[in-house]
Amino acid sequence: MAVDYHLEGHVAVITGSTSGIGQALATALAEQGVNVVLNGFGDPAKIEADRQAIQQKTNARVLYHAADMTKPEEIRDLVAYAHRELGRLDILVNNAGIQHVAAVDDYPEDKWDALIAVILSSTFHASKAAIPIMKAQGRGRIVNIASAHGLVASAFKAPYCAAKFGVVGFTKSCAVELARTGITVNAICPGYVKTPLIEGQIVDQAKTRGITPERVVEDVILAAQPTKTFVEYQNLAGMLLYLVSDMGSAATGAALSVDGGWTAT
Ligand code: NAD
Repeated sequence: MAVDYHLEGHVAVITGSTSGIGQALATALAEQGVNVVLNGFGDPAKIEADRQAIQQKTNARVLYHAADMTKPEEIRDLVAYAHRELGRLDILVNNAGIQHVAAVDDYPEDKWDALIAVILSSTFHASKAAIPIMKAQGRGRIVNIASAHGLVASAFKAPYCAAKFGVVGFTKSCAVELARTGITVNAICPGYVKTPLIEGQIVDQAKTRGITPERVVEDVILAAQPTKTFVEYQNLAGMLLYLVSDMGSAATGAALSVDGGWTAT
């Protein structure tokens, strides 16, 4: 039986939703009748085709805003656009992310800056813009897509871990601060999901470690995940829908692992 999360008519912004996890989460929200604003980079024709496909499949209103998540002014404009065009803002999913895998003493400084900007600073700027709207509504849901790497470390990913641990800390602090406002703030910490970002990492890790891509999947990536299977989009969508519905009203300040047992080990 399909679950009704009673989200019809809600409005969501999902950053980094032209690909991978963000696109899957935006689609899952639209399937529940949530009007969504997509965001992210990519080929404009593909983005428009995907936007139309989600809208037709779900009957939700699906818009797109091209904000670069390294630019605070554009992030503020993304949030204002959703509020202006769709009349409210109930859900913010801070999902945009990038990765660069390298030894810390070899790590390019511009990659550090970009990674911290896209993952950590954008979460701050988007939340800062959304919170006054949510406070005025008396209800809001902020869900930050962190990572198992927001809870445990791996070699060659120091900047990514720094950013994701930062997202988890930001989540907890905001949750405590907003606890009496009707706004919940949580982080979902996925294990490995086979998205374009991970496809890239498989290639990068193979180079860094001097082994084949097949060995990276077996010995490096899924070595960390006791289930030995990738996390599926629907595993994350289920957690998101729980958190943004009324069922999730008591869950705040949590870093929720959906990682095939990785952080249990
Ligand atoms: P992806 O590469 O498929 O998607 C990333 C999205 O972010 C894309 O839409 C991209 O255009 C967007 N983006 C990147 N830089 C941007 C910028 N400056 N401005 C606006 N948008 C930008 O990656 P994914 O695997 O779906 O990752 C989504 C999130 O999930 C990331 O935060 C990632 O760290 C996290 N995550 C992924 C995994 C995994 O195994 N794939 C595991 C844990 C956490």
